[in-house]
Amino acid sequence: MNKKVNEKSDKMIHYKPKKTLKKQTNRKISARMKRKIIRKLIQKIFSVLIILLLLFIIFKIATSNHTSETTAEGTSKENTILEEDSQSNGNDLSRNSNMNLLDRENDENSGNTGNQSDPFIINNDWRLTLANYENIIPENFEIELANIDEERQFDARAIQYLNQMMEDMRNDGITNIWIQSAYRSVKKQKELYNNSINKYLKQGKTQEEAEKLTLEYINKPGASDHNLGLAVDFNYVDESFEDLKGFEWLQQNAEKYGFVLRYPKDKEKITKIKYEPWHWRFVGQEHAKKMNELNMCLEEYVDYLANFGDGP
Ligand SMILES: [Zn+2]
Repeated sequence: MNKKVNEKSDKMIHYKPKKTLKKQTNRKISARMKRKIIRKLIQKIFSVLIILLLLFIIFKIATSNHTSETTAEGTSKENTILEEDSQSNGNDLSRNSNMNLLDRENDENSGNTGNQSDPFIINNDWRLTLANYENIIPENFEIELANIDEERQFDARAIQYLNQMMEDMRNDGITNIWIQSAYRSVKKQKELYNNSINKYLKQGKTQEEAEKLTLEYINKPGASDHNLGLAVDFNYVDESFEDLKGFEWLQQNAEKYGFVLRYPKDKEKITKIKYEPWHWRFVGQEHAKKMNELNMCLEEYVDYLANFGDGP
């Protein structure tokens, strides 16, 4: 019996550890399985992370390439300006930095602001606003003005270009030039227009003749660049201005500051205004350059943009 018990207990003793062993083995296996799964998971997470990292690096490289391209472009642009300046003047580094500043601001300015519902604002670019005999600016047309001096005002967004141009002109030794008139309200334009008509009527002209003669040099109220605050008249506002050095300088350099001769001699039929060497209009640098390159007055250029896209 004892032996049996012993045997039994032996068996039991023998059996128990056997069972535990099996359990342990099972546990070991499942632990191994778990570890394997975890390892696989970690591997997967790692490979995903590596892929993400690679993508990030590729993206970074692509972006930095783009930036360096832009920088290269910027540099070549700067060089062009440097070349232009050294050709025409050969001096003044500070001017170059000013010009670049103007360039940058010009870029920021282009194609923004302006009221899209106003038909005379071309391409939604306030710098190309067209005022003429068939595009009449309303009497309530409002712009933000800045002072040129105590009496004269200019569009606040463009005045820095005007100031820079005047400063550089003076630095080039042109001192006998001054701004006779700049911004004029539509109301003031009305006064000028009516005064001129009255003057001709007093001389014995008919109303029709008086209007015709007036319109040669004075725009109808709302049809003048001056009503926009984007134009300046120099000196005595007469044709002798074209004999001055200042006129020559403007012909060579005004486009760099975004100004163009608004009423050229060969465009009288289009502008319906007689040649005005003294009247210069701000349109922005890239437009001024393009207009000169194409030999177009503002009316033609606006048509050109309408037919051939968004311009330079
Ligand atoms: Zn004028």
